[in-house]
Amino acid sequence: MEDSYRHRGMRRSLVKTLRAKGINSEAVLEAIGKVPRHFFFDNALLEHAYQDKAFPIGEGQTISQPFTVAFQSEKLNVASGDKVLEIGTGSGYQACVLMELGANVYTIEYNKVLYERTRNFLPKMGYKPRFFQGDGSKGLPRHAPFDKIIVTAGAPSVPESLIRQLNIGGVLIIPVGDNEKQKMLRLTKIDEKKIRKEEFDYFSFVPLKGEEGWGR
Ligand code: SAM
Repeated sequence: MEDSYRHRGMRRSLVKTLRAKGINSEAVLEAIGKVPRHFFFDNALLEHAYQDKAFPIGEGQTISQPFTVAFQSEKLNVASGDKVLEIGTGSGYQACVLMELGANVYTIEYNKVLYERTRNFLPKMGYKPRFFQGDGSKGLPRHAPFDKIIVTAGAPSVPESLIRQLNIGGVLIIPVGDNEKQKMLRLTKIDEKKIRKEEFDYFSFVPLKGEEGWGR
């Protein structure tokens, strides 16, 4: 796969689109500008890679819309060196953006086929998060606590386990709602007992499966 002048140009116009849609963080825009999203697409679908749209990646799952990736990344306020848990590895695109922001990424995927595929593919692009397979609705207790947690599938409610696995001062960004649309929530752990909750726009994600999600 090559990253040509043309691809870089398409990426620049995607960044312009995201800026026009309200993404302000220069760090996030720069990260989106660096990750070659077309590497995640079959040759026949290359023209779709830099549209601001979600796209099927097999197994009934999607690579998230760039605006959604940028929005969640911006609201997560990633600082270089942050230990970040991503729930829903999918294609691995969001994980790459987090790594471009300097995060130390732990990513967990429920679907075994996607887990295998992305674990093999991402390092070939030079991105090496720590990959896990399993039910991320329960977090990743063996590796907790985390500075930031990002959930990239729609949950019925905020899983208690995820709040528990945040550091004090840590941030969780998670879409919560029904199977049609979910409100983006940001929860900040002020201390062991106090959580600040902020609400943003509605999005549409595939369902978060598992014990603290929608079930199997
Ligand atoms: N972050 C991904 C990307 O950049 O391509 C997009 C993820 S896709 C919208 C949601 C993913 O969450 C799917 O791959 C799905 O299999 C996964 N998922 C759903 N429930 C999960 C769970 N309980 N634990 C881990 N992954 C889960």
